[in-house]
Amino acid sequence: MVARSTTACQTGACQTERWKQDLADAFSDAETLLQSLGLHSQDIPDLDPTPAAWRMRVPRGFAALMQPGDPDDPLLRQVLPRQIERALVPGYVTDPVGDVAAGLSQGLIRKYAGRVLLIASGACAIHCRYCFRRHAPYSALGAQAPRLAAAIARIADDPTLDEVVLSGGDPLMLDDDQLDALIAQFDAIGHLQRLRIHSRLPVVLPTRVTERLCARLAGSRLAPVLVIHVNHARELGEAAAEALRRLKEAGVTLLNQSVLLRGVNDDASRLIRLSERLFACGVLPYYLHQLDPVQGAAHFQVSDADAAGLMETLRAQLPGYLVPRLVREVPGADAKRPIH
Ligand SMILES: *Cc1c(COP(=O)(O)O)cnc(C)c1O
Ligand code: SF4
Repeated sequence: MVARSTTACQTGACQTERWKQDLADAFSDAETLLQSLGLHSQDIPDLDPTPAAWRMRVPRGFAALMQPGDPDDPLLRQVLPRQIERALVPGYVTDPVGDVAAGLSQGLIRKYAGRVLLIASGACAIHCRYCFRRHAPYSALGAQAPRLAAAIARIADDPTLDEVVLSGGDPLMLDDDQLDALIAQFDAIGHLQRLRIHSRLPVVLPTRVTERLCARLAGSRLAPVLVIHVNHARELGEAAAEALRRLKEAGVTLLNQSVLLRGVNDDASRLIRLSERLFACGVLPYYLHQLDPVQGAAHFQVSDADAAGLMETLRAQLPGYLVPRLVREVPGADAKRPIH
């Protein structure tokens, strides 16, 4: 019976245990994270070791992709809490994209024709400092089961919808049982054609891409699309590349969205390397977002003029399909707005 226990550990139960353990092991304390990189809090004069809100959270696998000894590492910069986040900057608000007005309270956000966004889970495996939902009132979402049931009923009632976008937080924070149940309900809604998942987990917690998840997406009646979120080529390590290969084999269309961030990727050569690395992992660049003006993230802002200049260089150096679309979300607009 040796063979049987080996099999059990390569599938199902063990894989589930693995990603939940990786999640539980994430760094939640800046000092410990810095130590793992051979750094000390004195190396970061602006460090905020105990932010008032939006606590630090960094999976160990993601931290392992950072450059040891570099306090300015672009991956570290995305996740390390800094005092400057406490500054109130005019124009930087708690709900920059109008989610609350568009229906966040039920977790169902309808802004654009044909598609609706469902906050499947308010939680994330990583806390990006620039996140536009860092102040989102997720605690007001209410109990998960009745909320999702009400959302599914509304989707079923609206034949103009052909696509559901699962978002969050991160929808892959739901486990395989929960996703299975959710997808089964979408499969049963005749007017839906596509199921889109917006998730950073295949990148920051690649063990989340279980065989069961791949099989469930492959087995859905709906065409599966996964939009990952990567800002710098180095975020795509070997484990993430392997997870993306399995998703691709399962027939999932893979796209990426990035946020343009000062000190992280506001540099043409970095953006070019990112597009090339994405392609090597079977992923096409989709959006490059101008930062949403969320309170606490003003120091990441890149001007529209600089952003447009970067895009010029990208267009001159890359094949068209490796150039992401530079966009901004404008509350009330009927689509993400291109920036020229
Ligand atoms: C960004 C977004 C979408 C998806 O928009 P696409 O342009 O299709 O990628 C859908 N719903 C909401 C509320 C969004 O913010
Ligand atoms: S993964 Fe996305 S939703 Fe989660 S904290 Fe980062 S930017 Fe926000």
